[in-house]
Amino acid sequence: MALLTVRSLTKYFGGLTALNGFSLDVEAGEILGIIGPNGSGKTTFFNVLTGMHRANGGEVYLSGIKANLLETKTHTIIRHGIARTFQNQRPFNNLSVLENVMVGGHSRTRGGVFSALFGLRAARRDRERLKGEAREVMAIFGKRLLSMEDAPAWNLSYANRRRLEIARAIVSKPRILLLDEPTAGMNPAESLQLVKNIKDINRMGIAVIVIEHDMRVIKQLCQRVVALDHGEKVVEGAYSEVRNNPRVIEAYLGKD
Ligand code: ADP
Ligand code: MG
Repeated sequence: MALLTVRSLTKYFGGLTALNGFSLDVEAGEILGIIGPNGSGKTTFFNVLTGMHRANGGEVYLSGIKANLLETKTHTIIRHGIARTFQNQRPFNNLSVLENVMVGGHSRTRGGVFSALFGLRAARRDRERLKGEAREVMAIFGKRLLSMEDAPAWNLSYANRRRLEIARAIVSKPRILLLDEPTAGMNPAESLQLVKNIKDINRMGIAVIVIEHDMRVIKQLCQRVVALDHGEKVVEGAYSEVRNNPRVIEAYLGKD
């Protein structure tokens, strides 16, 4: 059985079909790319997968868990091991960089995030453990986040905010990490470095599904690529196969 099994996932927004009978298997240990033009349903897939939007139909199963994830609440889905980043997310500006990363681990601490951050004795051990784990995860990015750990998050550069988001997602110890356009707004050198970071994360045993516009990033990262258009899977396969598919070329470049 695959790590993640998605069957006939469908999502309507009023009269608009954002996802139409989308099915997908994700294997443990793989890095899977999702491409498609703007509005093709990529982010919607992550939103319904993580319970942020309720699907209109379909089933999602994670290996080892009986329930259809679509009937499960977001915090339970995170606890089962699916973590994500967002296309346009801001950090909690008044928290430090370290605290922002620690927030990602709250689903595993007893007292919840606020007692983990601010609580007294009861939460103290949880907080110390979480701090250590947050620092370990931040080390994926060398000194870039670690050297800023006490700085307020608003102090971070754009690229560091993206790194912070990924670190926060990983602190929840996911089996699958969902990245929504992680290199958006990064320069080529930063993108290249992020590719290496994502490969390191994958080597920690975390499967990755990455939505990306930059085809160089997709080529370097993904063993398998899925192309969406109008909420439907157009083609699925190795990078070169998908990139040269006439329907993919048409969806990106238009019929003319
Ligand atoms: P992508 O991430 O591939 O660019 P999205 O999944 O964000 O595309 O959007 C797919 C379609 O669903 C688009 O037509 C978009 O306008 C629509 N859509 C997405 N989210 C909402 C929402 N919350 N309310 C209404 N329509 C939405
Ligand atoms: Mg999107």
